[in-house]
Amino acid sequence: MLDLDVENFKAALAPGRRAAFVFSPNAQALVASEPALAPLARAISAMSDFDEHEAMFFEVDARSGALFTAFLHKTIRGQGAGGVRHWSYPTLGDVVRDGLRLSRGMGRKNALAGLFWGGGKGVIASPKGAPSADPEYRRALYRDYGRFITSLAGAYVTAEDVGTMPDDMAEIFRTTRFVTCIPRAAGGSGNPSHATAKGVVCAMEAALEQRGMGTLAGKRVGLQGVGNVGGSMIGELFDRGVAHVEAVDTNAGHVSAVAQRFPDKSLRVRVVDPADLSIFDTPCDVFAPNALGAILNPRTIPRLACNVVCGAANNQLEDERRDDKALRDRGITYVPDFVANRMGIVSCANEQYGSIEPDPAILRHFSRDWDGGIFEITRRVLADADRRGVTTSEAATALADALSLVPHPIFPHRARHIVESLSKSRWHARSSDEPR
Ligand code: NAD
Repeated sequence: MLDLDVENFKAALAPGRRAAFVFSPNAQALVASEPALAPLARAISAMSDFDEHEAMFFEVDARSGALFTAFLHKTIRGQGAGGVRHWSYPTLGDVVRDGLRLSRGMGRKNALAGLFWGGGKGVIASPKGAPSADPEYRRALYRDYGRFITSLAGAYVTAEDVGTMPDDMAEIFRTTRFVTCIPRAAGGSGNPSHATAKGVVCAMEAALEQRGMGTLAGKRVGLQGVGNVGGSMIGELFDRGVAHVEAVDTNAGHVSAVAQRFPDKSLRVRVVDPADLSIFDTPCDVFAPNALGAILNPRTIPRLACNVVCGAANNQLEDERRDDKALRDRGITYVPDFVANRMGIVSCANEQYGSIEPDPAILRHFSRDWDGGIFEITRRVLADADRRGVTTSEAATALADALSLVPHPIFPHRARHIVESLSKSRWHARSSDEPR
């Protein structure tokens, strides 16, 4: 069933055009909302990325025909929180794989960052030929997605991710309160990219220190991607005395903007073709992937000419188990993305608690004095990996998984209780227009 074209899955969905899959701790099985979907529940449970995810919800948006989804991993620490990815997917399996991987990744990132939020992720599978760039289409789509989120009663709190923009969050905010990363004009935290860049640089400093390589001063850094995060990162690196930055991007506009910002620094930035892997050959102390996921793989790892890989892109390893071992075997220190790039979610996850300028709740993540800060957590993960003879991903995952079992101090496992209530009230049989 996972091979089903997304269009065919949508056509096959039950009346009400919704489906839910909820993990039953008693039965130790994923239970489908309709008996006809039981084979799909079994197929999802058999996926390698399935890790007793607590629930997943699907709805076909009546207006756009897009498939709306929300995935919850562990929610002991808090409701599932993570961005919504808007993308086009060939098969249902591709949608589910992204939802499972990304929700688990968000739970780990939230736990390591000390946030009282659980693992959650939304995926909007765009219908073929949808006018995704049309502002009118987007406005309606995101308002509908907000209604979908509202129907989930707070089990999942959404945010920005690949394929979405702050304006889209503002539209979602019109139809649900369960959204963060809304624009500053609406009381939100705005674009987190600079904080993300600064956080990744803290992780680089920790990795260099842990490896006995000193500070960033005088080092050479390679960057793939000089967009929102990569562009800010260059400034942070030069502020710390980096000797040279070598960078590539596929977008000529981004390249020339960056080149103009640092005319008197030792910076070489080039426009490349998407298939061009030459940045991986560049000799440097630190390499920062700031563009795409899955770029650390058997085609790129043998080419790397650096000591440390530490960047902002999510899911950098193409295969979690294979590629971190390949990096270790090459003597390269890999800082897992979910250790380094927390500031995107940190900046916006707690925006309902208000903001202070400058905000101590944000600044402590950059501090070396807080043992939950990026610097200390990175050092702890690398030291733990060395001590236990495991990869840095394994060490970071073990720490994150342990922290994700720490209950929310006020509302432990709230999302599971919400999901139970949704199941009892037959969420799947109602339409999104019906009030709860
Ligand atoms: P962005 O879209 O602004 O920048 C990405 C850049 O990568 C673009 O300039 C794009 O042209 C370039 N690019 C794409 N393919 C490329 C290729 N093959 N070679 C070289 N360059 C290529 O995105 P961003 O906000 O800067 O985020 C960068 C990465 O960090 C993304 O993977 C994102 O998911 C992740 N991330 C971002 C944040 C945040 O706060 N923005 C937080 C956490 C994680």
